[in-house]
Amino acid sequence: MSPPGRPKGESLGAQRQGSPISPPGRPKGESLGAQHQGSPISPPGRPKGESLGAQHQGSPMNEAILVSIEMATTWRYASGAAMERFCNGLMEKRIEALRCGVCRRRYLPPRPLCGNCHAPLSEWVPVAHEGRLEAWTVLQVPMLDARTGDMREAPYGMGLIRLDGADTTINHYLAESDPARLAIGLRVRAVWRQEPRGAMDDIVHFEVLR
Ligand SMILES: [Zn+2]
Repeated sequence: MSPPGRPKGESLGAQRQGSPISPPGRPKGESLGAQHQGSPISPPGRPKGESLGAQHQGSPMNEAILVSIEMATTWRYASGAAMERFCNGLMEKRIEALRCGVCRRRYLPPRPLCGNCHAPLSEWVPVAHEGRLEAWTVLQVPMLDARTGDMREAPYGMGLIRLDGADTTINHYLAESDPARLAIGLRVRAVWRQEPRGAMDDIVHFEVLR
């Protein structure tokens, strides 16, 4: 369809390209890349005639370009009022959720607003150290552990855990990494580090209760 005020048959593409853009079902060999190749538009710093389109068309890019950059970064992260209280509780091995005064939904990790009714949350309720495994997976490749900055040795289990007293799940490591011994619905319990420091990894992982 032609835009208003534009002569019939003269599309925006035609103005830019100098040649009409073929409709779907264009003749074989006349790709969009071919149109680009003939156009005078070349990326900056590239020899004339050697457009990106031409590269794609002639020789596929099959060599990976690796750029290795080492960066040291430090930052301070503002956790917010709700997470601050939650983390302080972890230091005393206390897990607390925020309950909505309107719909009664209990959020863990805590959050400032209810996702259902958008009401501000301020009612803290205790949550058990045990709960139900709602979903799980076993990772087979080493992955960077965001909590430590080190690679975490594979395999290891991860789960979505709904602790007793909460209506939402938390994502955490599992002590079990054998898929044959994991199942939705299993009871799990938090295993704490000896000296909590007020962070989510004060819980080392969750162990399955047999
Ligand atoms: Zn609510």
